[in-house]
Amino acid sequence: MVFTILVVGDVHGFWDDGSESSVRALNPDALFFVGDFAEDEATTSGVEVVETVAKFAAVESDSGRAVCAVLGNHEAMQYSLKPKVGPAVPIQTRELLRPYNPCEQPRQVGPVSIVGGRPLSWGGGDWFFSHMYQGVYGIRDLAHSAELIRGRVDDTDEQRPIAFLSHNGAAGLGSAPGDICGNDYEHDAAANGRGDRGDPDLTNAIEYARSRGRRVLFVAHGHFHDRLQRGQGLRKMCVVDDAGTVHVNAAYVPRIRVENGERLHNFTRIVLTTDKEPAVESVSVLWTASSGKLIETKNVYPAVVS
Ligand SMILES: [Zn+2]
Repeated sequence: MVFTILVVGDVHGFWDDGSESSVRALNPDALFFVGDFAEDEATTSGVEVVETVAKFAAVESDSGRAVCAVLGNHEAMQYSLKPKVGPAVPIQTRELLRPYNPCEQPRQVGPVSIVGGRPLSWGGGDWFFSHMYQGVYGIRDLAHSAELIRGRVDDTDEQRPIAFLSHNGAAGLGSAPGDICGNDYEHDAAANGRGDRGDPDLTNAIEYARSRGRRVLFVAHGHFHDRLQRGQGLRKMCVVDDAGTVHVNAAYVPRIRVENGERLHNFTRIVLTTDKEPAVESVSVLWTASSGKLIETKNVYPAVVS
């Protein structure tokens, strides 16, 4: 038996009826959103996009599909730039989508327990949006965030492996621009000690889970886009760490592209085996037509050996 999770990467305003038809056609057991719903911090607050997605998510949840979401840094940027526009997106939308944050209880989804990483993450050890972390979530700093996520690990069912759903991925997976959370936007970032922009609090919680004897099957996240800035090529979007956890970056941006006049919709599919020892069977990057028809499938895990 297998359990299928469809991960929607950074939306950035690209969500439409074709995306919804595609989810129904692909018919996954679970649907994950990794955040960054807002199209552009200067033009949209992200509220409208989250409302549209939340309406769809409610219908899907009622039909038995598990829907989980986190919010991204773009949901915080509009508020930070123009605090007078109204309540922050997380406050306006939290009743709609009920996105994960480190204070939310973990959830059993198929064979795994899902623990939420830190929302709104910009990446790395910088502590942006401190007023929102403190005001909306009661998170004081990175150490406090790590403590809260570790607490959620403790709340999971010990019989099940863990998976993390987070806006940004874990630190410790490389400092080159093309690494899964590598800094592609600053010159000489690695030489300046700013190459690895993964979340250190998430890494701390992953290591904690392992220290408690728990298996961490995968981390699903977004944030660092597949196409590197400054013409540096393409990013590694799926890597396996030394302990065997599969890190899946779903941020293929834009997630809707037009080809031969047809809108194609991006998803990343994670297939889990549901045997006695659940495991990640495969990860693939999909593009569908608006009808839901699968147009392109690229397997990224296990790595294709040529
Ligand atoms: Zn982001």
